[in-house]
Amino acid sequence: MPDIGFLNGRFMALEDVKISVEDRGFQFGDGVYEVVRTYGGTPFRLQEHLQRLQRSVQALALPMPFTLDEWSDFVREGVKRAGYSEHKIYIQITRGVSPRDHAFPGHQNATCVMTVRELRALDPALRRSGVSAITTPDLRWGRCDIKSLNLLPNVLARQQAKEAGVFEAVFVRNDIVTEGAVSNVMIVSKGRLCTAPEDARILSGVTRRLVLDLARKAGIGVQERDILLDELRAADEALLTGTTVEVLPLVRLDGRPIGGGAPGPVTTRLAGSFGDGRA
Ligand code: PLP
Repeated sequence: MPDIGFLNGRFMALEDVKISVEDRGFQFGDGVYEVVRTYGGTPFRLQEHLQRLQRSVQALALPMPFTLDEWSDFVREGVKRAGYSEHKIYIQITRGVSPRDHAFPGHQNATCVMTVRELRALDPALRRSGVSAITTPDLRWGRCDIKSLNLLPNVLARQQAKEAGVFEAVFVRNDIVTEGAVSNVMIVSKGRLCTAPEDARILSGVTRRLVLDLARKAGIGVQERDILLDELRAADEALLTGTTVEVLPLVRLDGRPIGGGAPGPVTTRLAGSFGDGRA
């Protein structure tokens, strides 16, 4: 099966996508992205991802040459062409190619890229055992709600996690847990599910919203509020949510167990209803 590439409205083999060194995504990280996955070959929560893409585009005054309906068709077409059992779809929009100058170019031609690759599911053993994380200072900028290409703090944090032999790095800013480097973080405390509020300090995850909705439907109390690092350490349960991690128990932090050091009942229930809901 081929990995599929897409550049400015044209599909091609992934290795044939070529971008100029003067693209502002390459020069400045002047662009945004989205990651969507499929279940049973169908893109999951595609509209939510595309709406977030549009919000990111608007927040940075980027050009958007295609409508969301067109993007939706491109994604479905890419999946059809790739034909894997499950797909990981990456979309990137940059402010395009122009001679290097920080301010916006006079006329903007976006570069729109999409790649469609095979998605390999996380090891199910990790879901059963739960995963470990380290904490790391949140060095990111003031608009983490925009899914921008500027991922250097996330890159460094993920490398730290890798070197520590753990799954995720959890960002902490002024003693407050913001989110993971590639996931949102939730805790269960006194029977309630708590997670950082939707503001500029976090990326508002599509999975985050879905999991909060599932919790409400299940009669679990939900609080969107700041979580102190000490609260995460002392939580009954903790979990990570995200397109690639889905609902993943977080059972150790900086080498110490969270709760019983094993997936707890609320997390297990939410992971179950997440699985039912996407089927
Ligand atoms: N937070 C960050 C920093 C992320 O990079 C991601 C996913 O890539 C998420 C949260 C989770 O978002 P979503 O559930 O939309 O995948």
